[in-house]
Amino acid sequence: MFCPECGATDVEMIDGVCKNCFLKNYQLIKIPETITVTVCSHCNAKLEEGKWKDSYIPNEEIIYRALEKNITIDELAENEEIELEIDQMRGTIAECYVEAVATVLGEEIVETHTPNVKINKSVCPDCSKRSAGYYEAVIQLRADSRELTKEEIANAEEIISRTIEKQAKKDKLAYIPQIAKPKEGRDYYVGSLKSAKKVAEHLKEELGGTIKESPRLISEDKSTGKGLYRIWISVRLPKFEINDFVKYNKVLAEVIAIDGNRIQIKNLENYENIVIKWREYDNIEKIATKKDIKKAIITAKSPNTIQVLDPEDYSPIDLEMRESFEKYNIGEEINCIKLENNLFLI
Ligand SMILES: [Zn+2]
Ligand SMILES: [Zn+2]
Repeated sequence: MFCPECGATDVEMIDGVCKNCFLKNYQLIKIPETITVTVCSHCNAKLEEGKWKDSYIPNEEIIYRALEKNITIDELAENEEIELEIDQMRGTIAECYVEAVATVLGEEIVETHTPNVKINKSVCPDCSKRSAGYYEAVIQLRADSRELTKEEIANAEEIISRTIEKQAKKDKLAYIPQIAKPKEGRDYYVGSLKSAKKVAEHLKEELGGTIKESPRLISEDKSTGKGLYRIWISVRLPKFEINDFVKYNKVLAEVIAIDGNRIQIKNLENYENIVIKWREYDNIEKIATKKDIKKAIITAKSPNTIQVLDPEDYSPIDLEMRESFEKYNIGEEINCIKLENNLFLI
């Protein structure tokens, strides 16, 4: 046998030529000269086989992945090692350098390529929804039978932005395109229902109150008769705030804590705490607010009683001494509340 290319004799033949001639024309890897990747200019999601995938991946990573995905290694290669480099960026084109090293038929082969990766900027459907102000749900923040306070709105908005920020890592529709400010409260429009539900949950968890969901018809498709619905989530904060006064099962009490699970009140007769579940909410009557708290002057003290002057008519009233009142001296003022004609020290 002899090689028809170089005339060598008594050599191993591959594909009709000697090994040397075979390796001279051998191509270790195949890679297109130009690779185009379509990427969302807002979130860096990548369009692949008709689907938008991943997001917030740095451009460099996208380029390396595009190179990797487009390299085909010849099946004769063994122990191949491939190094990828971005030489420079020219506008949206990355000029790259690819070096492949492998063992082929016992010989070490080194091959280099200089492909370009072109980044084609587009907008993914989620980002185009976002820029169009699309929303799936509205969180309606209200307080029961009263207006929301500035602090409640500030607290709620801190919870909302914290939750949205966290959700945005996995939900591209976690955004608030619009906030309406009717007199009764606030309406927060939310891109996705999923994230709106999370926000409502966190609001209830931290501020208490009740949640109710109801769909609303936004428009109707005349041809199909199908309605386009959005979900309104009502988050209603309780009628009372911490330090307000309530009546529950004939007990007069001060509200001392509120969260998503329970309402905690302090019985003003015996200063014992009572824990109430939200399902009992309707049985709690608000009878005074913290603004109704008055000051009473202490006129006498004994181990068992404390005497104060009623802040309304200055009549002396003897009340049971408690450990928390012992620190007060005669002549000092102490907080009190008058409920159903009874004076309570707090
Ligand atoms: Zn040859
Ligand atoms: Zn996008």
